[in-house]
Amino acid sequence: MRSKITGVTVLMLTLGLLVSGIGTMAMLRQYVIKQVDSQLQVDAQSASNSYSAAALGQGTTAVVSSDYYVALYDENGALKDHTWRDIPRRELPVVTGALDLQTVMELDGKTMTLEDAARDTEFLAVAVPLVISPQGTLGTLVMAVSLKPTENTMATYLTIFLGFGLGVVLVGAMLTRLLVTSTFAPLREVERTAAAIADGDFSQRLGGATPNTEVGRLNRSLNTMLSRIDRLFKDRARTIDQMRRFVGDASHELRTPLVSVRGYAELYRMGALQSPEEIAQAMERIEKEAIRMGGLVEDLLELARLDETKPLALAPVDLMPLARDAALDAMASSPGRTITVLTPIPAEFEDTVERTAIDLAHSTGEVPSAGASEPKQEEPNHAASGSVSFAGATLARLRTRKPRKTDVPAPAPEPARVTEPGTVHAVVMAEENKLRQVITNLMGNALRFSPADSPVELEVAVDRRNQRASIAVIDHGEGIPPQIRDKIFQRFWRADTSRARETGGSGLGLAIVASIIASHNGTVQVEDTPGGGATFRVWFPLACSPSAPQRVAPVVTS
Ligand code: ADP
Repeated sequence: MRSKITGVTVLMLTLGLLVSGIGTMAMLRQYVIKQVDSQLQVDAQSASNSYSAAALGQGTTAVVSSDYYVALYDENGALKDHTWRDIPRRELPVVTGALDLQTVMELDGKTMTLEDAARDTEFLAVAVPLVISPQGTLGTLVMAVSLKPTENTMATYLTIFLGFGLGVVLVGAMLTRLLVTSTFAPLREVERTAAAIADGDFSQRLGGATPNTEVGRLNRSLNTMLSRIDRLFKDRARTIDQMRRFVGDASHELRTPLVSVRGYAELYRMGALQSPEEIAQAMERIEKEAIRMGGLVEDLLELARLDETKPLALAPVDLMPLARDAALDAMASSPGRTITVLTPIPAEFEDTVERTAIDLAHSTGEVPSAGASEPKQEEPNHAASGSVSFAGATLARLRTRKPRKTDVPAPAPEPARVTEPGTVHAVVMAEENKLRQVITNLMGNALRFSPADSPVELEVAVDRRNQRASIAVIDHGEGIPPQIRDKIFQRFWRADTSRARETGGSGLGLAIVASIIASHNGTVQVEDTPGGGATFRVWFPLACSPSAPQRVAPVVTS
């Protein structure tokens, strides 16, 4: 490439110089000859006049430059005399053809080209009539000038021109080579890097070129492409690694209850379980393990479905009823707890009301303790599988019942449902089932990781500036140390010290939460509850927000 560009440049330069040189020379020669010619005409005429005057005795013969060959011919064209007597005869211009007076008159002073006898010098000549005797006899004056000095000038010009031309071509070739070499240096770098990448080193990046040059721009595009490819490869490797770990963890999680079930079955087959109490105990354990496996398989299925990236059936969902339902569900499964729903404050109450709270523990005064324990019997292992129990018919009744005015300590009984202009709506764009799942998982953890008698709050808030609304689950339990806050969303991750495996969940609850939030373009924050405990706050775009939910990684902040 470098040689080609240099070669082409040298060729163009040479051609250009030749054309301009030859053209200039041809034009210059013509011009100089024309000059010589017109001078010859003038000088011949004045010589003719001066000779004629001298012949008639009217003056002296003018001195003619020795550069001119002057010859006198009689009226019949015979040479009478000439000026270059010292010059060998063969170097004198030879007049071909007749030079009688008639012919000279016909020539009418036109310039002729003559040659010497050796034919190596050209002459410009002109023949004019003149008086050659006192009697007035006419003859012919031939005046010729050699073109040798002109040719010599041309030859010198050509030599100088060729010398300069050669110099220009050489310097041009060198400069082109230097320029091409320095311009293509980054391309050689690209070539080397590409070879390294082809050998499998994807960490290589192109550099060295000035950013706003063609190579610089090419490098930037290639670097972007390489980064993408590199990221894709890394993502793929990470996904494969995650999948492998996920499958390994899932198998491990499933193997433990299976071993236990098989153990009890073997004990029974070998007759080790004798008394009805022992058999009942073994059956109870088998049932518990089966429920545990069922919960795990459900969680795995949920995650697999979320990973499918199927489009969501989005609709405007009000967070308030969801919070209320979650609170009722939690009260049913943990009757001893105080569950409070904290609601958003309408803009016009913001100065006067600190917070609108619906104390469901009191508002549902009719929930009997027996009623609350019912679901425990119906769904005895919900807590163990990581979900909050639903209390069946009683809860359905409770959900449809509006809290009595006396139940609600703060004004505006259902502010989230208030529709007057200016009030706050915590209506987000989401798939309701998925939202319920998020709240259920968070509530399950809040109940599991806090003392049985400690309160739990559900707080709904609207951030109109960022066009989003949140629901927070606030517990007053052991809390989450900052160093594990980003780990808890990983699949199968559990703080082992927090609970025994038999009673604990699968470590998939928060992974499901993270997946759902990601698919809704939401975020999740993990904070410390003032006074101790954990607060999980999940944000979703408001229904009127322009940011349409799409599948992105959840932003975990703490
Ligand atoms: P699991 O389904 O086992 O509950 P999660 O993914 O829901 O798993 O939770 C992962 C880990 O996060 C739990 O083992 C626990 O250590 C921690 N965690 C989650 N929620 C809370 C909470 N409210 N308080 C304290 N620790 C929590």
